[in-house]
Amino acid sequence: MTPELEATLQNLPDRPGVYLMKDTRGVVLYVGKAQSLRHRVRSYWQKDAPRAGEGMRIRSVVDRIADVDYTITDSVSEALLLEANLIKRYQPRFNVRLKDDKSYPYIKITLADDFPRVERTRKLPNDGSRYFGPYASASSVDESMNLVRRLFPFRTCTIDIKDGVRALQRPCLLYHIKRCQGPCIQAVSKEDYRADIAQVELFLEGRRESLVKALQGEMTSASEKTEYERAGAIRDKVRAIERTMESQKMAAFARTELDLVGMARQDNQAAVQIFNVRGGKMVGRDVFMLEATHEASDEEVLTSFLEQFYARATSIPPSVLVRHSLPDAGVLEAFLAGRRSGPVHLRSAS
Ligand code: SF4
Repeated sequence: MTPELEATLQNLPDRPGVYLMKDTRGVVLYVGKAQSLRHRVRSYWQKDAPRAGEGMRIRSVVDRIADVDYTITDSVSEALLLEANLIKRYQPRFNVRLKDDKSYPYIKITLADDFPRVERTRKLPNDGSRYFGPYASASSVDESMNLVRRLFPFRTCTIDIKDGVRALQRPCLLYHIKRCQGPCIQAVSKEDYRADIAQVELFLEGRRESLVKALQGEMTSASEKTEYERAGAIRDKVRAIERTMESQKMAAFARTELDLVGMARQDNQAAVQIFNVRGGKMVGRDVFMLEATHEASDEEVLTSFLEQFYARATSIPPSVLVRHSLPDAGVLEAFLAGRRSGPVHLRSAS
């Protein structure tokens, strides 16, 4: 051990935070979080260090660690979020980590625009837009986008359209085939357009029953006003949405809002499948791959997935159901509750 490393270990604070273990070239080999940086980091060099799981893996590289950087945080929850972001940035070789983590796609609704667009993105700037995801792959985001496009009209062009200003003399084909309401020619008011976008939000949130109820109300009011063509279009939309609900066969969770997480492992990889149940119906599912899982316990792999996935997820339900009972469940629950701004219960099936 170099004198510099020895001095760092001596001066580690007894505070929560995140640590980065680096080799002689400054490459980050491992990122970890701790309730007490002093106790956790020093433990890797102690004779009675853990001989299983994460402790074992770090011990196997302890001789290659030339430097330890750390950041103090106010709480372990804050450390957990920072840890997930640093794993994403450095992709450390000895962390269990999400594969292709840097490029997961999301659906974005540009709510800062007078007439928002709904589009795919891989970036999450703080620009007033609303994001849904992450999705595990381009094909799973495409599947959702195609469904949303079939069900709801919205613009796909990027021209600047301001409320009260006619942007074009003539609309594009999408207007003629009823895939866009034509805000470019002021064929729809800002309020009506945004009401349709609010329905897209409800749909992507998985609140399809609420959406169907709202649409049924709209349909009744259109018929009462003898707007039969509009009422018929709404009826078709309701049927199409109901069909997407019927195709979700897992309807045994009356009114439940939860994510169900399952896992399969092989060699140095793990596949984690997440099912999103909202309003008692399964409204989404996706498979994420994790790498560097060799020598990690099932509990450790699942914990790493939950930390890294929910650090970037845009929707967190009040319950998350996993197969194994996790050692740091309380810390994880506090972290999820902070991200959700409401309590989250981590339930285990075992
Ligand atoms: S109809 Fe107008 S607003 Fe809609 S996509 Fe075409 S150009 Fe854009």
